[in-house]
Amino acid sequence: MGKNILKNYNYKGAIHIHSINSDGSGDIDNITKAAKKAGLSWIIITDHNYFDLEEGIYNDIYVIKGEEISPQKENHYIALDINNRIEPNDNPQIYINEVREQNGIGFAAHPDEFKKRNNNYPPINWDKSFIPDGVEIWNWFSCWGDRLNTKNIFTLAFSYIFKHLLVKKAPQKSLNWWDRLNSQNQIIIPAIGGIDAHALKVKKYFLPFTIFPYKSMFKTINNVINLKEPLSNNFEIAKKQILNAIKNGNNVIVNNKVLNKIPNIEIINNLQTAYSGEYLNLDQETYLKVNVNKKALIKIILNGRELYKCVAKKCNLLLTEIGKYRVEILINKKGYAYSNPILVI
Ligand SMILES: [Zn+2]
Ligand SMILES: [Zn+2]
Repeated sequence: MGKNILKNYNYKGAIHIHSINSDGSGDIDNITKAAKKAGLSWIIITDHNYFDLEEGIYNDIYVIKGEEISPQKENHYIALDINNRIEPNDNPQIYINEVREQNGIGFAAHPDEFKKRNNNYPPINWDKSFIPDGVEIWNWFSCWGDRLNTKNIFTLAFSYIFKHLLVKKAPQKSLNWWDRLNSQNQIIIPAIGGIDAHALKVKKYFLPFTIFPYKSMFKTINNVINLKEPLSNNFEIAKKQILNAIKNGNNVIVNNKVLNKIPNIEIINNLQTAYSGEYLNLDQETYLKVNVNKKALIKIILNGRELYKCVAKKCNLLLTEIGKYRVEILINKKGYAYSNPILVI
């Protein structure tokens, strides 16, 4: 039986970026130059309650706009593929619905920040009684903020200089919630990883702790989208390719700070190959294959429970059950890659 071999194309990009149009420190030119240096192909800028950015290709980077709908206290919502700005509201259901009415998709942003922080920045969480379209399972800035310690000049300096040590892995609480949402739904509830690049003002010691350079942020949590065709040179077409991939969950969330490579995660049967966010039928020879090319802890999660784990450079698991499979890869106890579910039916 001949296998239907489809080529696939991977493109690295970053989601959840703030510019000078809200509380970020860079303009499009600065941001895209940094993105290019970091080896990205596309970025999605999501300023707070702002949607007037001029999209296009800047410094060879596809720049797409989204909106981080940001009410005062809680429930920030990353709205993508919308046409018009959406007002924040104290009731998230109102903007969840509005995103859907505009045929967009929304992701609950940084849903599980620590309640008790060693700093004066109160957590901004998501009220889980509201069901979003997708979940930002890992947010670099939010993870760092959870561990930022402003108690004294030493803890502050440590938090800044060793910032990458503070961001360990996607919060288990968010992963569990995302798994529950997927268990309750037939369709794939997609996940994204965000960087949430901001300018943070630490006034206390008058030290230059205001800026995390975009370039260094872009080298952390990325989303690697998987396409069947190369990205178009036409911006409007490319924008659709990128946004559709994110809507379908055709992205793997990768922390490049841990390993600057793209892992291969796929399920194959006798006829097809399915990647993150795709589906195929269970047959006698359905295998989940993971290739990291470096010794790693590979976890395979089926319908929210851990089915299998191993420490190896790659693994190849025969599947005997239908359901939603996803893969988590850790290297030296740090989160490296999180796939979206692949559906076996
Ligand atoms: Zn936010
Ligand atoms: Zn943000």
